[in-house]
Amino acid sequence: MSEQNGAVAELVDQLSRLPGIGRKSAERLAFHLLRVSENEAMALSEAIRRVRQDVRYCEVCFNLSESETCKLCGDRSRDQTKLCIVEQPRDLMSLEQAGVFRGLYHVLLGRIAPLDGIGPDQLTIEPLVERVRTGNFSEVIMATNPTVEGDGTSLYISNLLSEFPVEITRLARGITAGSVLEYANREIIADALTGRQKL
Ligand SMILES: [Zn+2]
Repeated sequence: MSEQNGAVAELVDQLSRLPGIGRKSAERLAFHLLRVSENEAMALSEAIRRVRQDVRYCEVCFNLSESETCKLCGDRSRDQTKLCIVEQPRDLMSLEQAGVFRGLYHVLLGRIAPLDGIGPDQLTIEPLVERVRTGNFSEVIMATNPTVEGDGTSLYISNLLSEFPVEITRLARGITAGSVLEYANREIIADALTGRQKL
């Protein structure tokens, strides 16, 4: 259908598939891209190409990375005894922007969600347990989102890790139940980190 309607319709069609972009916004964006310089428009297309071709998951922590291991894992100045567990790379970004935590991370790439058919095997829990088994961690901080599924995931993982000599803590509940890390502001995240409690 799009082919028959031409290039502009195809672009509108593609843009309107993005989350949060309705038909009207897609049209506005498409016409904006037609108005800006060719360089500016092509920079967007190049950024999309690069992110899909060059970005992958860090082999250690599953953060987004452009090489085998990410910058955070390679940074020896970070506290190698503290491990913070998050659901998604964007949660890691929120925590990093708060600037309080100087340890390492582990990204689960999701949460256990039985209703959506997502079990522990689909997450990076196995490599996480292996990391804790072989690493020098003294504290594992559960920073999954304060939702029913996030809490369930956190509980599941803390049970698995209970056989290791690590202290398991979780973020203080400064973040309103149900809200997610990516939308919380810096101060709230910083408070939640400094006020973390034993699980
Ligand atoms: Zn990493």
